[in-house]
Amino acid sequence: MLLRPPPSPLAGALAPGGSPGPGARAAGPELPNEAGLGEQRDEEAERGRGGAMAEEGASRWPAGTDHGQDGASSEAEAAASAAREECAGPRWGAQHAGARELAELYSPGKRLQEWISVVLCFSLMTFNFYNLIFCVRWEHVFSVIVGIFAGVITADFVSGLVHWGADTWGSVELPIVGKAFIRPFREHHIDPTAITRHDFIETNGDNCMLTVAPLANMAYKLVSLSPEALHQACPWECYVFALAIFVTLTNQIHKWSHTYFGLPCWVVFLQDWHIILPRKHHRIHHVSPHETYFCITTGWLNYPLEKIRFWRFLENIIQRLTGEKPRADDMKWAQKIK
Ligand SMILES: [Zn+2]
Ligand SMILES: [Zn+2]
Repeated sequence: MLLRPPPSPLAGALAPGGSPGPGARAAGPELPNEAGLGEQRDEEAERGRGGAMAEEGASRWPAGTDHGQDGASSEAEAAASAAREECAGPRWGAQHAGARELAELYSPGKRLQEWISVVLCFSLMTFNFYNLIFCVRWEHVFSVIVGIFAGVITADFVSGLVHWGADTWGSVELPIVGKAFIRPFREHHIDPTAITRHDFIETNGDNCMLTVAPLANMAYKLVSLSPEALHQACPWECYVFALAIFVTLTNQIHKWSHTYFGLPCWVVFLQDWHIILPRKHHRIHHVSPHETYFCITTGWLNYPLEKIRFWRFLENIIQRLTGEKPRADDMKWAQKIK
């Protein structure tokens, strides 16, 4: 399923070929891993040098700056931009002042929480899978398939809701949740390549934490219910299990959508067939001010939710009720220069 990006006022303001600009050079050697040179060449080959596809980092061009011209004006702009950056620091990447500060807030306590979550979650997942396959009967096959499909769609929606909530509201300064759970979202917008350098524990720890309780509840049911009751509950439990698996894997899938080299071919196959979040699809979210395409599991719901302006609708309600401005904290971190 190929979804067309919504029109973005900034997408048209990108440099020819969507060049990440001088800030990208400041991001250092990790760039080839991501929306860097290889990907840029790939994009250029596909759409010619005049395309306007969004790229991470490219979104940080200030609104109203014309990066769409060629020749002398582009060079002049690049030189002026480099001069500006000498004073103000890079607009994105690992060397961005905000990104460095956010990366330093990753603490040993947080690491321990991630380790515990991963071990518990994967143990419960293995246990539940082993027990669940013995509940499935032939007469349930159709409802089990529907349950799994519904679980995947629900996971995509949950990924969008959590991502939207953390991107749009709250602040890194909030007690406990700020540093532990909002910080990674802020870091990801300023330094989208950082996720490709996170190991398995850091990538998946928080999502594992979310699914430990429902998986534990399922494990309890699997050992305590009678076989007959389990057969009856099987389609529902398959729905919950598929939901839990895809919520758990969401950030791993998200990491793959930022990785341009060394992905296993089966992952690329799943991306190309839009079974999991494709790379180009996710780039739409990375256009500043990061206000759409929040679903990052399969991305199936991004287009319909954008079409009905779902996130805008929620933001208007919350802004009216609380007076808070959406993405105020995200903007603050993006503009940090020291
Ligand atoms: Zn985001
Ligand atoms: Zn991303």
